[in-house]
Amino acid sequence: MPIYEFRCDSCAARFEALVDAGTDSTPCRACGEVAARVLSAPAAPMSLVKGGGEKRRQERRNAQLRERARADFKAARRRAPGPRGR
Ligand SMILES: [Zn+2]
Repeated sequence: MPIYEFRCDSCAARFEALVDAGTDSTPCRACGEVAARVLSAPAAPMSLVKGGGEKRRQERRNAQLRERARADFKAARRRAPGPRGR
């Protein structure tokens, strides 16, 4: 069962409740009136929210990894020269 956030129209209380999936309203915990489900947009995952600095760091890291992979590939080819090594 999912946890949804509800807001009471009568007393403006906000609370989370474990209810059946798709439930739109539940009795308010404070006053017993009908509390409507708050439809909040899901937050973007933190991995997708990167500042410019973080993005540049990641780019540099990727460049280093590419460089290393290329060096490894060359070293492997030197160790085992095949018909493609020409
Ligand atoms: Zn209420």
